[in-house]
Amino acid sequence: MATETSSHPATRGSAEAPVISHWIDGRPMDVPPEVTGPVYDPSTGQVIARVPRGGPADVDAAVASAKAAFPAWRDTPLIARSYIFFAFRELVWRHREEMARLVTRDHGKTYPDALGEVIRGLETVEFACGLPSALAGLNTPNVATNIDAFTLRQPLGVTAAITPFNFPVMVPMWIYPIALACGNTMVWKPSSHTCGAAQLQAELWTEAGLPDGVFNVIYGGREAVTAIVEHPDIAAIQFVGSTPVGRYVYETGTKLGKRVGSYTSAKNAMLVLPDADMELTADAAISAGYGSAGERCMAQTLVIAVGDSGARLRPLIEERIARLKIGPGLEPGVDMGPIYSAEHRESVIRWIDKGEAEGAELVADGRDFEHPDHPDGFYLGVSLFDRVTPDMEIYQEEIFGPVLGIVHAVTYDEGLALINGHKYANGTAIFTTDGGAARRFKLDVQVPMIGVNVPIPVPAGYLSFGGARGSAFGDLAMRGEDGIRFFTQQKMVTERWPEPGRRGALSLVFPGNE
Ligand code: NAD
Repeated sequence: MATETSSHPATRGSAEAPVISHWIDGRPMDVPPEVTGPVYDPSTGQVIARVPRGGPADVDAAVASAKAAFPAWRDTPLIARSYIFFAFRELVWRHREEMARLVTRDHGKTYPDALGEVIRGLETVEFACGLPSALAGLNTPNVATNIDAFTLRQPLGVTAAITPFNFPVMVPMWIYPIALACGNTMVWKPSSHTCGAAQLQAELWTEAGLPDGVFNVIYGGREAVTAIVEHPDIAAIQFVGSTPVGRYVYETGTKLGKRVGSYTSAKNAMLVLPDADMELTADAAISAGYGSAGERCMAQTLVIAVGDSGARLRPLIEERIARLKIGPGLEPGVDMGPIYSAEHRESVIRWIDKGEAEGAELVADGRDFEHPDHPDGFYLGVSLFDRVTPDMEIYQEEIFGPVLGIVHAVTYDEGLALINGHKYANGTAIFTTDGGAARRFKLDVQVPMIGVNVPIPVPAGYLSFGGARGSAFGDLAMRGEDGIRFFTQQKMVTERWPEPGRRGALSLVFPGNE
């Protein structure tokens, strides 16, 4: 039974800095403290745990456990698998507040935001509960005399998930429920920055009745990832994280014959037409730009304002910025928590310096923000640039912090061309009261996830999720129908059962369909 973090069965060590264990074959696997690194609470800057720096030997152990568990799990009847998913769903629901507190503690995002993440992650678990119908194939009787055809979907074997720091519950829950529902076993490598909730997820799977070895968790960085990507017994990998690492995982994994999907960095823009409801649009820009301190792959960090809409929107955004409360994510009433790490905070500051040097107008400057009660926390205020132009690096690159930029376009076509010309293509949105313009945008824009007056258009958990261009590598999106396709091999069976007493005749002719 999982308990609060400080007494987690999968953690050891002193009360100040418990050591997290890998989770292999249904139980914690301890590592010596000397092969661990620190985990920080970004709201205080204090070390709260130590996490293993896993390497090839740990990955080998996890893969061996997943490989041994595969045959029995593959052959477990669908309905028996589905009962385990229902039980897991109920357990996560019961532990949702504890899980959200762990997310807030490790990541820094506010508690309501973290709770939303857990609930959105659960949508995909709920989708997986319906796996008997999701896995149904096609059946076509009588394609020729006495011949029937049908498809079946079978699991691939041992699969892996490599996930980022920013959604320690929702993103893995977009991957592993589908992989497991399809009959695969799993080795998951979470981000070492935000791993408290990973332990809890592993424990809840065991409590839900998942057989040992079906779900394994390994911690580590580059060494662990390389060992996963190169492991001969891993059939498929879904990676979520930055583009350089995602490209490496995709290129190396596919060269070794694995099925790989990498869902990577983003720089999303919302297009604002002059007829938009500006109050609603300003609320949306604030929520999509600064929510979770801008550390979301679906954050809208560019506002492409058509005509005079930029001049009208800017004061409304400024007004709202002045009202934002920044502080520890567990404190009630806080709108934005700290940045997840000290290094990333420095990186965001360098991007703001860069934007100034490139000539963008810095309207709000969050660089000097310090929390009075937590001087060692990794806090930043929010920043707003106006007059950002496409030649600037702050336009082209992902900052992944609370930095919003306004870009001015003369026409809809100019704004659209900017979005379609960007190297990243994850999500986008249009703000308008003109249904015809919105319809045209849905057809014209070359970005897969689109909002209409919706700032963060993350599709519901039972639909697919994925980007294009530099934001995704591979042909299939995560979860939904694409997830099922990704985690299964389809077989097409053509079957003859002659009628009793009839025999076939010898023939060398390519069979027709009579
Ligand atoms: P990251 O690429 O640094 O890390 C992702 C995973 O790769 C982690 O598990 C990490 O331990 C591992 N890793 C890090 N550096 C590595 C290296 N050099 N070699 C091998 N493995 C390495 O990403 P992050 O900072 O954790 O997450 C933020 C990024 O993820 C952003 O770019 C964001 O846009 C992206 N993201 C994308 C989506 C999406 O669906 N497209 C969703 C969430 C986050």
